[in-house]
Amino acid sequence: MTAQATSANMPVVLLKDGASQTKGREAQKNNISAAKIIAEIVHTSLGPRGMDKMLVDSLGDVTITNDGATILKEIDVQHPAAKMLVEVSKTTDNEVGDGTTSVVVLAGALLEQAESLLLQDVHPTIIVDGYKKAANQVKQYLKDLAEQVFADDKPTLLKIAKTSMQTKLVRKDSDNLADLVVRAVLAAAVKDGDNYTCDLDDIKVEKKSGGSISESSILEGIVLDKEVVHSGMPKKLTDTKIALINTALEIEKTETDAKINISNPEQLKSFLNEENNIIKTMVDKITGSGATILFCQKGIDDMAQHYLSRAGVLAVRRIKESDLTKLAKATGARIITNLDDLSKEDLGAADLVEERKIEEDRWVFVEGCKHPKSVTLLLRAGSQRVVDELERAIHDALMVVKDVMELPSIVAGGGAPETFAATKIRDWSKSLQGREQLAAEKFADALESIPLSLSENAGMDPIDTLTSLRSMQLKGNNWTGIDVMKGKVSDMKSSDIVEPLAVKNQIISAAAEAACMILRIDDVIATAKSAGPPPGAEGGGMPPGMGGMGGMPPGMGGMGGMPDMGGMM
Ligand code: ADP
Ligand code: MG
Repeated sequence: MTAQATSANMPVVLLKDGASQTKGREAQKNNISAAKIIAEIVHTSLGPRGMDKMLVDSLGDVTITNDGATILKEIDVQHPAAKMLVEVSKTTDNEVGDGTTSVVVLAGALLEQAESLLLQDVHPTIIVDGYKKAANQVKQYLKDLAEQVFADDKPTLLKIAKTSMQTKLVRKDSDNLADLVVRAVLAAAVKDGDNYTCDLDDIKVEKKSGGSISESSILEGIVLDKEVVHSGMPKKLTDTKIALINTALEIEKTETDAKINISNPEQLKSFLNEENNIIKTMVDKITGSGATILFCQKGIDDMAQHYLSRAGVLAVRRIKESDLTKLAKATGARIITNLDDLSKEDLGAADLVEERKIEEDRWVFVEGCKHPKSVTLLLRAGSQRVVDELERAIHDALMVVKDVMELPSIVAGGGAPETFAATKIRDWSKSLQGREQLAAEKFADALESIPLSLSENAGMDPIDTLTSLRSMQLKGNNWTGIDVMKGKVSDMKSSDIVEPLAVKNQIISAAAEAACMILRIDDVIATAKSAGPPPGAEGGGMPPGMGGMGGMPPGMGGMGGMPDMGGMM
């Protein structure tokens, strides 16, 4: 039983047996520690010289990555405050695609800095207010610092894509890959007045291990990782009419158990004939509409395959629903559920549909679609792990190019904007009253965790690097940053290391928000239900201090559900 409070001799029981609670300082300390551990895990992966992580899941599958969002997704964190950082990384991934490591590093640094203020008895509310004001101010500075570009300026977009890929395993192929990425996004972009919008759903990414990364290619149209269903069907058709159906071309099994008594061979024959006829009628409806290609979401049985191949139709079965939707958009076809509805108007068109061999597989290529927005990136790499990491790098690159097309403002990379904003914030903090000023100064210190981590990961001296970076910026070049590949501080513009303003804005807002949310918590109550297995019962692949706590923050487990209650029951 857990006593919540006492009045005179009467204990008041609020929480169920086994529940636990940490309050005040203790709770804050726990949460901050957990968040710091998470930031520590990912910070060595930041930047082009960052290390990769090898993650092994409970089934023994191995992932090798340095993508913040992927690392955190795979390690299955239990601590509630740590989970918030994982969440922030995920949101950043969805919003802008890149910056998923930076956001966690910054949030961790903000909390670490806040911890020192808490020790000096600065109230969390003051810190939160100071942080919020500072975050807004930083965004203003970055806006002033950013350079406006033309949304469809290919050279700029190439630089953006390349910077994002610089930090990945596939960096040495980034020239070629950036070109593919930019062509894909430009193809998918829609201009509306002066603005562009890009729907990345129009870009299909298919991956196949084998071959080399340089064999990756872009295709105007759609690639399906499926083969033509029957060997007698044509393997290549031009000027095609395409039918998309999401029902099976099979005899439906009835739901009820029925018994059919057949007493002589004639009856059997007519029964089978009847089945054949049903299938034949289905196929006739398809060929009758004028379709030469059939893409089916469900199965196509042998008899149907036979009739389709006799009619010269190229058919593919068991296509993913998402691919069918893409095909509908690309070819202008309507997805049909009831074959009786199929008519000429429902058919889509493509110049070419062809089955081609990719390594040991056969894939179907749909090219020259009616709607030219649809493109497919066909990714190749020597092994499955590399092709998986390539796919993640391409995701980030597609997103940053989209970010710039939608908000055509760019800033430097290599810690330049963070250092610039930190200097500005220190100046500005003097205008604040009282202890908020301290919080704003700490915000500036936290911003510098990005250049510090970048240089540390590159084996440079972090303090020396930051000092010379600051002094170069003070001399007037605000685009000075750390070129970690060359190991020196230099002008980022001339090294083409640029990033979307949208990513930096997201990193600042999301990290500040997460840090403030964690700082405002002064009570952690874990109900009995969430108490997991005893310490040590799990923990495979979990970071130190995070495993086996069954959803409880460090210091909360193994206390028999009795946190610091002053010994009163
Ligand atoms: P995130 O997941 O946060 O994007 P990354 O590992 O991709 O983390 O690292 C991004 C950081 O690396 C950014 O601050 C970016 O400016 C920096 N960066 C990228 N390329 C370079 C480079 N060539 N030199 C220095 N810094 C770079
Ligand atoms: Mg990145």
